[in-house]
Amino acid sequence: MAFIELKDVSYTYIEGDEPPVTALKNINLSVEKGEMIAIIGPNGSGKSTLAKLFNGLFQPTEGSVSVGGLNTSDQDKIWDIRQQVGMVFQNPDNQLIATMVEEEVAFGPENLGLPSATIKARVDEALALVGLEEFRQAAPHHLSGGQKQRVAIAGIFAMRPDCIVFDEPTAMLDPMGRKEVMATIQKLRSEGKTIVYITHFMEEVVDCDRVIILKEGEKILEGTPLEVFQARELIKDADLELPEVPYLVYRLREAGLQLPDEILTPESLVEKLCLLN
Ligand code: ADP
Ligand code: MG
Repeated sequence: MAFIELKDVSYTYIEGDEPPVTALKNINLSVEKGEMIAIIGPNGSGKSTLAKLFNGLFQPTEGSVSVGGLNTSDQDKIWDIRQQVGMVFQNPDNQLIATMVEEEVAFGPENLGLPSATIKARVDEALALVGLEEFRQAAPHHLSGGQKQRVAIAGIFAMRPDCIVFDEPTAMLDPMGRKEVMATIQKLRSEGKTIVYITHFMEEVVDCDRVIILKEGEKILEGTPLEVFQARELIKDADLELPEVPYLVYRLREAGLQLPDEILTPESLVEKLCLLN
């Protein structure tokens, strides 16, 4: 059994007298331990709804979600599930509550009731991971967007979840902040964390293990980045665009250049182009 499994999951929002909105339809999906999967889709395609199903913040209207073998609809297990799957959201300002960085990072481990020496060790380790040791006494609201998002990540990391779900963590950041956060996520990945990475930037999925494309609440495509980038029509249908390098390779092949299609980075494009001479 995979670490996280969604079986025939649908989710419908029902609020007051409003007509019901079905945000997800018949989703089957699994995440193995240690994997980094990307979920991509345009606005309103159901990404945030899906994120909240991964750790039991929402329960499916139909179908089932399990985490480490526990069913998220089982209310007795919800605490265990939340400890296994942490969440980082789009807007760091909505996630930070403390007045000092180290207090913010200690918040989660304190809630787990850990002894204070353990909490301190975990805070040190988490701040080192995100590269913010020098900012431990700083006020979070004085930090840049990228730094704030790294504080939020440190706070989650300090609770030692097996998996972290990121819901468009770079959407509100400048290019610099985006780079810092992506580098931090790659670090978590190399530490063996399972990563679910939600985005609408195609560029960001290039080095994930697997990509899932959502459109209007349905999974329309799943595969490695290379496999997904071959499905140009489906990508266009979903209102998404190929990342720069795969797009260039596609255009160059169309123009008659004998390039292989497994080219994802500028370096490998340059190398293959030089070989043509
Ligand atoms: P995404 O994160 O991809 O933008 P969401 O999961 O936020 O998509 O939304 C999916 C669909 O569900 C959209 O049609 C959205 O309008 C609807 N939706 C989201 N939240 C609510 C809510 N609280 N009540 C009713 N409909 C909602
Ligand atoms: Mg969203």
